[in-house]
Amino acid sequence: MNVNQQAHMTSPYRQPQPTLQGYAQPGYGGPPTQYTPYNSPNPGYQQGPAPAGYSPYSSLSSKAFPATLASDLSCNSSSPLDLGPVRPTPNSVGPPMSAPQGYSQFTQGDVQNGPPTMSSQPHRPPVSQSYLPGSQPAYQQYGVPPTNMQQMTNQMSGMHVSGPPPAVSGYAPHSSNSQTSVSFSGTPSFPPHSVSSQQNSPAASLTHGQPPSQSPFPGAPPPVSQPQYSSVPPASSQPHYPGAQPPPASQGQFPVGPPSPSQASPFHTPLSNFVPHAGPGVQPVQAPPHSQYLSGPPLPRQPMQGPPLSQQNHVAPGMQRLPGQAAPPGQGQGVQPQQNGAFGQMSRPQPGYGGSYPGPQNYGAQPPPPAAPPQKRLDPDSIPSPIQVIEDDQANRSSEPFTTEVRGQAPPLVTTNFQVKDQGNASPSYIRCTAYNFPCTSDMAKQSQVPLAAVIKPLATLPLDEAPPYIVDHGESGPIRCNRCKAYMCPFMQFIEGGRRFQCGFCSCVTEVPPHYFQHLDHTGKRVDCYDRPELSMGTCEFTATVDYCKNNKIPQPPAFIFLIDVSYNAVKSGLVDLICAELKTLLDYLPRESSEEDSCIRVGFVTYNKVLHFYNVKSSLAQPQMMVVSDVADMFVPLLDGFLVDVNESRAVINSLLDQIPEMFADTRETETVFAPVIQAGLEALKAADCAGKLFIFHSSLPIAEAPGKLKNREDKKLVGTDKEKTLFQPQTSFFGNLAKECVAQGCCVDLFLFPNQYVDVATLGVVPSQTGGSVYKYTYFQVPSDGDRFLNDLRRDVQKQVGFDAVMRVRTSTGIRATDFFGAFYMSNTTDVELAGLDCDKAVTVEFRHDDKLSEESGALMQCAVLYTSCSGQRRLRVHNLSVNCCTQLADLYRNCDTDTLINFFAKYACRSILSSPTKTVRDTLINQSAHILSCYRKNCASPSSAGQLILPECMKLLPVYLNCVLKSDMLQPSADISLDDRAYLRQLVTSMDVAESHVFFYPRLLPLQKLDVEGDSLPTAVRASEERLSKGGLYLLENGLHLFLWVGANVQQELLQSVFNTPSFGQIDPSMTNLPVLNNPYSQRLRAIIESFRVQRPRYMKLMVVKQDDKLELIFKHFLVEDKSASGGASYVDFLCHMHKEIRQLLS
Ligand SMILES: [Zn+2]
Repeated sequence: MNVNQQAHMTSPYRQPQPTLQGYAQPGYGGPPTQYTPYNSPNPGYQQGPAPAGYSPYSSLSSKAFPATLASDLSCNSSSPLDLGPVRPTPNSVGPPMSAPQGYSQFTQGDVQNGPPTMSSQPHRPPVSQSYLPGSQPAYQQYGVPPTNMQQMTNQMSGMHVSGPPPAVSGYAPHSSNSQTSVSFSGTPSFPPHSVSSQQNSPAASLTHGQPPSQSPFPGAPPPVSQPQYSSVPPASSQPHYPGAQPPPASQGQFPVGPPSPSQASPFHTPLSNFVPHAGPGVQPVQAPPHSQYLSGPPLPRQPMQGPPLSQQNHVAPGMQRLPGQAAPPGQGQGVQPQQNGAFGQMSRPQPGYGGSYPGPQNYGAQPPPPAAPPQKRLDPDSIPSPIQVIEDDQANRSSEPFTTEVRGQAPPLVTTNFQVKDQGNASPSYIRCTAYNFPCTSDMAKQSQVPLAAVIKPLATLPLDEAPPYIVDHGESGPIRCNRCKAYMCPFMQFIEGGRRFQCGFCSCVTEVPPHYFQHLDHTGKRVDCYDRPELSMGTCEFTATVDYCKNNKIPQPPAFIFLIDVSYNAVKSGLVDLICAELKTLLDYLPRESSEEDSCIRVGFVTYNKVLHFYNVKSSLAQPQMMVVSDVADMFVPLLDGFLVDVNESRAVINSLLDQIPEMFADTRETETVFAPVIQAGLEALKAADCAGKLFIFHSSLPIAEAPGKLKNREDKKLVGTDKEKTLFQPQTSFFGNLAKECVAQGCCVDLFLFPNQYVDVATLGVVPSQTGGSVYKYTYFQVPSDGDRFLNDLRRDVQKQVGFDAVMRVRTSTGIRATDFFGAFYMSNTTDVELAGLDCDKAVTVEFRHDDKLSEESGALMQCAVLYTSCSGQRRLRVHNLSVNCCTQLADLYRNCDTDTLINFFAKYACRSILSSPTKTVRDTLINQSAHILSCYRKNCASPSSAGQLILPECMKLLPVYLNCVLKSDMLQPSADISLDDRAYLRQLVTSMDVAESHVFFYPRLLPLQKLDVEGDSLPTAVRASEERLSKGGLYLLENGLHLFLWVGANVQQELLQSVFNTPSFGQIDPSMTNLPVLNNPYSQRLRAIIESFRVQRPRYMKLMVVKQDDKLELIFKHFLVEDKSASGGASYVDFLCHMHKEIRQLLS
């Protein structure tokens, strides 16, 4: 037993790169049945008898098994041996370890014995509104905790809202429908969500998908359940959102606010500026909490509909007030046109904000907007600004390190630079949650609809100033674990009986402390060696695993890398083959290795292919490499064992000779056809033969149409976009690759795919194996060495060099009351609990959703432990364990005070990635809108002070939810622009699926930096500006990045001096838009700008090629696509318009 493993503490994971990123591919091309999404709206992923809606318990029984089984993760580790040299075992050795109990991991009996109560957490600033007494949910919890699984299941499945009916009649989804149709947090179920609560009628909530004949708008005469963004096929009768309104629909919504709203009131969202009364923030109205929404029929709505009233939204009779000082707070003004002027001025017309709404493509068919009276538009400066929020967080939270000893602390935003000190909970670099205060009950969770999820990046690279995880070696006995649930020793285990036993924080089971691990407790009950042991004091640590944790109980062989190069006509002609071979000669010197090792243990092998495969013998004893051709691709085998996988150093000369010869050998090829599946099979068979895990690097150029297994046909059909069959475009065209992926996972064979297509290659199908093996897909369309060579080489270098674990299995354990129910990412699952990754690299993130299966308690909070068992690049078996505790609350306001919107968006985006495999994109968009509207309306209803319905009130930490959600909705994945290819969409889908929070954030809301006033001396970056055309000045230069693309936009009136400094030309006209890097000039401005570009590139997992965009040039169209606050060419709403739409949705739910 090693007490303090300082000596082992060098991390194998330390990498120079920043912490951001994780790309990977989505693992969802595959068989849906592997998942147990119990609330997924995707029929494709529904399992078993799960009802369409909320059925959190349908898969409950699986909980009984999780830790069981033969999984490596659950091996019992109870060697009594004490091998540790360091700390002598005290003589008061505990009693011998009790025999492992047959456990049922999920018992209720121990429920009382929670983990030690942790110090309670300092709350974030209060929510924006003091919520009203009595506004808490009226639902009653199911009574006494059931005593066994069956009982519990029964109880839950039969559960109906047992408490008094909610006071608010207008909140349909949570009352009458809650049982069957409302999905409760995460994955919304379609039907219930589109409910407009107008009627509180179950029937109404189920009409989703039916073309309603009535106007969805509030105030429309007959109540209809259909909100504007319904999933209804372009039902013509449906007046969709903005379009139905007089064009600048947004106007009415909020009085034009004063500038810089976000500062107006720290606890009010800027939208409080829209409050149509004078007071800052919201004036409490002396009325029963819900009266404003209850009073009579949908009051607030009526005004909305009245076409001619330009200010409809503000003038609910008796309820609403005029904006601004004009109206005394609390006084209804009657029906009266709003006077926008009360708050600031009408904004000037702005380029990005046409008054009219996004086209039908967006919201379905819309009647042409009626002629609108002249209106004032909502001032974009008065709505919540992402930049302001990001800057405020950076200013307030970057100076002090974020220490993790306190439970349930929300970390700074992912955009903020801050240092983390691990003092008992895992760093946000590894785990970020959507909420840090989980609702105590599933009813509360259902009511709020806030998804409870964590985005986990197990092997994340930490910033250089943070210590990598400690490696703990318990010798032959392996890590100490709970007898019952098999959780690993961590700060959540409480030692009792003088240190002889410990009680598990997850399942409450009491386990004997093995003699060699015994230690006395101090007067507070803490082990005296607590701070000497990383596993007892830190949120993250890594254990060396014993042979029990190895496949077939055998210590693994070091992994292998196999390079498989397409040498068909296209690949050769584009210069690709030359480029790869030249690069590999040096790149092979940089294979990943443990920091303690001089050379990498990874062996390498080489294959080239077109219609047939060529294997190479590069044994060190050969003078020249030997080629062996396999032309029978129907039944792939490896024609040589000895000499195929070799040590780079030993075989250096032969390898170099081979890499020199390959381009020559195929220089004159006429072969245009390729195979693909046999290429993967070849790599897989080679790894099998060598009995090791490894990674395949496949460089591929075309649709595999040659006769072979997995042969594909061109099925590109753009006409399907926007139809119910659109989903088929994202599904693989054959199940062949899904089966192949399964075999690869079993062998620990991870596949990275580099694509160089000149036309459709069916990324949706070719990407299946990479996405289910934890691999990555890279795509270089119309690849040309001069323009794309840099990007490809940088990606390849990073991909080959990055830290990666093989044959990984990840399991997330949770404390009693919640459990991980759904997983999103690039992996494979053969059961409901184990996430299997043939390869897991430092960039890959897995998003996990949690649901209640019992009540949680405020006292014990909710705990999660993510354990990843993997083989390191040197062949060592390791266990990395991340622990995180969050608070639990009985008040909704506490939930809304501690959310992380960036993580929420990551979850929603991944949810969308999966859903488009089985549902029309419009349905997916509607679902996200509906769920978000529910989240925000629940806040409004239960947490915000009463105020007029014309006012949009958002929780402080979710005030950016609308703007970010809109970015997801209008992304090419969900609402493609006309020029994006189907392959590109499939590609994006795969990328998003394994993004971490930092990546998804910048991907959906790009960073736009003005460069006019660059600080050329210091390191500071200019303050970003909002992604909207109106923020661009003709005299300026701007840099925009989203993690995949990097643009330098040049205004037409940029000063000559500046042009000279950057481009070495005084004339705008002479700037060459085809450059992909700036000229290297010896002036401070140029140097600083290039340094910034470089720093952006280093920060992201994929190399971004620079595109120079001149104002009014044709490339500008592409650039504008990333100005996400503006209306998009494909019909995506502008931020302002979308916010108004969300407001209407919320009002509908409230009324
Ligand atoms: Zn346990």
